[in-house]
Amino acid sequence: ARILVIGAGGRENALGWALARSPGVEAVWITPGNGGSCDLPGCQQLAIAESDHDALMAACRDLAIELVVVGPEAPLAAGLADSLRAAGFPCFGPGADGAQLEASKQWAKALMQEAGIPTAGYWAANSRDQALQILTAQGRPLVVKADGLAAGKGVTVAESVEEARAAIEEIFAGRFSAGTEDAGAELTSVSLVLEERTVGPEVSVFALCDGQRMVLLPTAQDHKRIGEGDTGANTGGMGAYAPAPLLDAAGLEEVRQRVLEPTVAALRARGIDYRGVIYAGLMLTAAGASVIEFNCRFGDPECETLMPLLGPELAQILLACANGNLDQAPALTIHPGCSACVIAAAEGYPGELRRGDPIASALQPSDQLQLFHAGTRRDDHGRCLTSGGRVLAVVAQAEDFDTAFERAYTGLAQVHFEGMSFRRDIGHQVRSR
Ligand code: ATP
Repeated sequence: ARILVIGAGGRENALGWALARSPGVEAVWITPGNGGSCDLPGCQQLAIAESDHDALMAACRDLAIELVVVGPEAPLAAGLADSLRAAGFPCFGPGADGAQLEASKQWAKALMQEAGIPTAGYWAANSRDQALQILTAQGRPLVVKADGLAAGKGVTVAESVEEARAAIEEIFAGRFSAGTEDAGAELTSVSLVLEERTVGPEVSVFALCDGQRMVLLPTAQDHKRIGEGDTGANTGGMGAYAPAPLLDAAGLEEVRQRVLEPTVAALRARGIDYRGVIYAGLMLTAAGASVIEFNCRFGDPECETLMPLLGPELAQILLACANGNLDQAPALTIHPGCSACVIAAAEGYPGELRRGDPIASALQPSDQLQLFHAGTRRDDHGRCLTSGGRVLAVVAQAEDFDTAFERAYTGLAQVHFEGMSFRRDIGHQVRSR
């Protein structure tokens, strides 16, 4: 098969790398990719932006693409998968209808409530006054969530009613209007969700769906905070590990039955043929797993962490999801080991960034060690420079987590750029040293 992967992050490089390893894959293109995409074995790079739907369609025709894998949520919410399918290109990624699972928190909460999927109680509010009224009536701190894609920055887990009130005021004052995502534009006119606060550890579950059937991947846990000990500002993710022992096989099976299957059924009841990843962010509360959020694509860095654990059937399975015939695909082999991923970030991340520093790497990838570029680019001389907040992901596998993390950190020590920062405690939940 000839495959096009769309996106610019570490996630897309990991997808390209894993797909290129699958037998029967003739060629993989990554667009727009980053400074590391063209070095991945079996991968080539294009320069088309993920937002340029016309140019992407033209590339699919020119290159006779047989499967498109869309990495990020923005092009999915903008209907890229719909356009591709309408033009006859099988696409792994939901249409704009299914992408609402991530793009609209109100829509996702309503779907969950109707389908009886465990999730925190919520109130939808479409004006400042309505939101404040709900808060006052409840008289307790509620979680405040802006509707729309806010790249993880639209949520306040308030400790007090006052803090929740301030978060509501900020949202309606256009707190995100300077942001890069489209949430700012929608906020003043649209809406937010107020939620009951739940407590417990969080775990991510990924289902590859073909519209009705699904294949589950190992669970993963990421580290959102910038600081060691899970402190400081929220980031896109500073590291991850898989599988997450928090949810054993029986627990995952229960999540399939209580969360994922009802979600696909509810989507189908709405006439939505969801072909792509359902990423359920779960909180394991005293009363069982509760859905915090859905995403319509792989997590980053969970994707980098998971791909090395997946078998060579991956390409066939994603193609079968895209074609709606997962029942005809082989079973997915899952490597029984542990995978550890540590992110190297630029100085200043997640705030004002330092950029443009050359990256030196002596890391030799092996069967158990991978380096995926994220925020990097090539200059005119072909040198690799830092160009984003999360610069690189180093991923390692082993039979146990201690060895996997030791390998990942040893790999990371062979990489350097000015201002490089990383957390030394990724996987603290599962490491003994
Ligand atoms: P991201 O894009 O980073 O995943 P998001 O903007 O989609 O974030 P959520 O995932 O809904 O927002 O929430 C972000 C974080 O806030 C969660 O990972 C969780 O730690 C916390 N959170 C969200 N909802 C609740 C809740 N009801 N109770 C307690 N904490 C919550």
